[in-house]
Amino acid sequence: MTEASQTPSTAKKTEAAKKPRRQYARKKKVCRFCAERIDYIDYKNVELLRPFILERGKIIPRRMTGTCSRHQRWLRRAIKRARNIALLPFAAEV
Ligand SMILES: [Zn+2]
Repeated sequence: MTEASQTPSTAKKTEAAKKPRRQYARKKKVCRFCAERIDYIDYKNVELLRPFILERGKIIPRRMTGTCSRHQRWLRRAIKRARNIALLPFAAEV
């Protein structure tokens, strides 16, 4: 008798996943900076800031990006600094 003893480690913890029943709740948003354990947002790192501003230069509200309030504050500060040294636009022309 040959018993295929394959045990794919699918031992995932089933946490109590509470789903907010909102219309626009698409997927679980977690703060990117919390996830990556970023303690300091470098204002010179445009690549990092870029996803958080619109093409026009506006800062995307955190309800859309999922950034937590603490990191959003850091982000805002970083973006404003980056604007001051012309790394990011204040308002780009459409
Ligand atoms: Zn965060």
